[in-house]
Amino acid sequence: MAYYRVLEALGHQGCPICVLRGEAVHRYLDSFLYESVNDVGLRQTLLRSRGFCRAHAWELVPFGDSLGTAIVYKDQVDAAIRDVHEAARAAGTWRPRGLRRWDGARDGGPAAVLRRRRTPEVPCPACQVGAEAQARYVSALLEHLDDPTMREAIRRSMFLCLPHLADALEAARTPAQARSLLEIAEDRLARLRGELAELIRKRDYRFAHEPRGEEQTSWLRAIGQLAGWGRSDRRARPHPD
Ligand SMILES: [Zn+2]
Ligand SMILES: [Zn+2]
Repeated sequence: MAYYRVLEALGHQGCPICVLRGEAVHRYLDSFLYESVNDVGLRQTLLRSRGFCRAHAWELVPFGDSLGTAIVYKDQVDAAIRDVHEAARAAGTWRPRGLRRWDGARDGGPAAVLRRRRTPEVPCPACQVGAEAQARYVSALLEHLDDPTMREAIRRSMFLCLPHLADALEAARTPAQARSLLEIAEDRLARLRGELAELIRKRDYRFAHEPRGEEQTSWLRAIGQLAGWGRSDRRARPHPD
């Protein structure tokens, strides 16, 4: 199953692991809003994680589920009120001894109190789901690296973004696997560099009459390959369910 998903994801614009990780998180958030907002255990976990991380909290917005999101965030805002209250208490009672100037970030100061209370005790649940999906798909990719169908799909793909290349190298079981990954990545980066140079060259007035080709989108692919791909960067796909 993971094998076929990796094969399919290789056909998309961007890194297959970014695609698959993004899809797993999207499915999770969808079902979370649909059936888990009232799950007491999960809401408890969300209190300990201080909600979803910044990226995943914003991924809730396109679902447009105002009620589900309000239910979750009412808990979160209650917790935030307690945290700000504790910081306010610290600001009121805290007297820096031997300090000539106000320093709210010092131990016991309001900034320190607020930061400590807002530090997640457990990871963001969506990050967790993403990490598990990633591990599954990276290992499927590694396991089938020599499979001819996989090879062909890799050859025609953009291959892994740099952050996921590092993850795949970490998961590689043999030096041959690692070398193989690096060889493909070097080839892809050289090609990308050539496209960027071509884009720049064609903007010169002397060559501006030349027809523009695929190199025109290379600047976008360069960002994706180096920083990792976000959901909005990819071709929109129908929801799998
Ligand atoms: Zn990636
Ligand atoms: Zn997250």
